[in-house]
Amino acid sequence: MLMSAEQYRESLREYSPRVFLNGEAVESVADEPRFMPGIRAVGVTYDFALRDDYRDLMVETQASSGRDVNRMLHINRHTEDLLSKLEAVRLVCRESGCAQRYLTHDALNAIHQATYRADAEDGSDYHPRFMQYLHQVQDRDLTLGVAMTDAKGDRSLRPQQQPNPDSYVHITQRRPDGIVIRGTKAIVTGGPYMHELLVMPCRTHTEDSADFAVCCAVPLDADGLTIISRPAGRPGQPAARFSGQYGQATAVCQFEDVFVPWERVFMSGEWQHSEYLVTNYANHHRHSCIAARAGFGDLLIGAGALMSEANGLDPEKYQHIRESMVELIKIVEGFFACGVAASVYGIEDPSGAWMPEPVFANVGKLLLATQIYDMHRTAHEVSGGLVVALPGPDEDHNPETAGDLATLLRAREDIPYQQRIDVSRFIEDLTASDTGGWYSVISLHGGGSPQAMKREIFRRYPVEERKALVERLLDRGVADTGQSGAPPRGKQPGQCCPVGCQAPDLPREKKAG
Ligand SMILES: Cc1cc2nc3c(=O)[nH]c(=O)nc-3n(C[C@H](O)[C@H](O)[C@H](O)COP(=O)(O)OP(=O)(O)OC[C@H]3O[C@@H](n4cnc5c(N)ncnc54)[C@H](O)[C@@H]3O)c2cc1C
Repeated sequence: MLMSAEQYRESLREYSPRVFLNGEAVESVADEPRFMPGIRAVGVTYDFALRDDYRDLMVETQASSGRDVNRMLHINRHTEDLLSKLEAVRLVCRESGCAQRYLTHDALNAIHQATYRADAEDGSDYHPRFMQYLHQVQDRDLTLGVAMTDAKGDRSLRPQQQPNPDSYVHITQRRPDGIVIRGTKAIVTGGPYMHELLVMPCRTHTEDSADFAVCCAVPLDADGLTIISRPAGRPGQPAARFSGQYGQATAVCQFEDVFVPWERVFMSGEWQHSEYLVTNYANHHRHSCIAARAGFGDLLIGAGALMSEANGLDPEKYQHIRESMVELIKIVEGFFACGVAASVYGIEDPSGAWMPEPVFANVGKLLLATQIYDMHRTAHEVSGGLVVALPGPDEDHNPETAGDLATLLRAREDIPYQQRIDVSRFIEDLTASDTGGWYSVISLHGGGSPQAMKREIFRRYPVEERKALVERLLDRGVADTGQSGAPPRGKQPGQCCPVGCQAPDLPREKKAG
């Protein structure tokens, strides 16, 4: 059953999670105004799946069940699916800023791959267990939060070396009916208004940190789970033209001896598969981040163009305005193109699921991680200082000043004052408010800090093949016509794989989230 946004919000009443917000216990998540922008943003993924014009993008048939499911819950079956997911995420994020639910997609696909591999190598039964869970999630049209990033404590120490073992979520007990987990996940998007959390390891584990290699599903109101959240967006702030409507909460999730029955456990100490799970999640998630930030870029491009127009500067006539706009477009479509390439060159996993090509997915995420600051700069460049200097919305209705402001701060004659200040506040909200800062930091660190992408790009890139190419050209004498008769040079170790498909061993400090 596909739910509407309203049904999704109502379904949250079936859970009684222990949630705190700004020092207060939250009685009802579905009725908490400070979460409403987040609930509304997730709701876009529900309502869009019910629209005829978006159905092809937002709904897909799950191969294993034959049932129609929301794109955000679908296991990819070919490159077309990867492209559709990319476009669907851009669509829901240009409407909501960040629709959050794509994290569910990314985790489900990675767990699908990792459980299949674990069973194939170890003879375990995680995959059929996961498939059963997947079908339940799809049938109930749930939204799952991703609880991956641990509190981590001292970054220079490994999980088992931390003075506080609860810096990382770990298994404290294995019982005949399930496992007991403990520890802290530090940053969980949408924490309070998810149906369940998917607990996943946030790094590659070794034999001596096997208890930290845990992946399982926990309902939001599980005994022992506490969710300490920030508000979503800037609800109730009149100047927040966008984030008063749409936003994202993040939460710290404390697991204090939470029991998880075996049917919801997808990894319990198999450290040798943690790298595969973490890396594949990161790959899917970085691909989604590209689309999410392209949706945000659409908002900035539109707002920048409207602001220039309201200022009386037609980009057709003013070259520097045109150049700033082109720079913004180049950035957004440049990293989005990496997402398209990662989809087109997608790779089939032995489980039958398809994943984005990792070099393009990581390059795209790395580009947006740093270029988000240039996106903000170009929006500021074309807009002027008004975006941070405008008096607050109360002055719009102050009988003593409103008329003056409307006359004095009007720019182009045929564009109403109110339209100009609305766009100005929209740009302030997205780029220069605390929400603006939030978009910078989520772009930089969400899905893993830049270092994680750089490591993955270098590990995956076929450098050896490129070396062999140049060696071959040198052997035959690049400049001559190939008639020099120079003897062939011997191949170096490590050049046996011309397509560079053999990635060297992962460094153990793998991180994503
Ligand atoms: C808005 C937002 C939403 C998010 N949503 C989610 C979510 O839903 N689920 C989830 O699981 N995570 C989520 N994340 C977490 C995200 O994945 C992490 O922020 C990211 O992986 C970086 O981890 P960190 O924040 O702990 O920073 P750190 O890991 O502390 O990184 C800080 C700096 O230290 C460096 N560093 C860290 N460790 C080492 C080391 N051992 N050696 C050398 N250098 C090191 C890093 O490269 C970086 O430069 C979210 C983050 C943000 C900002």
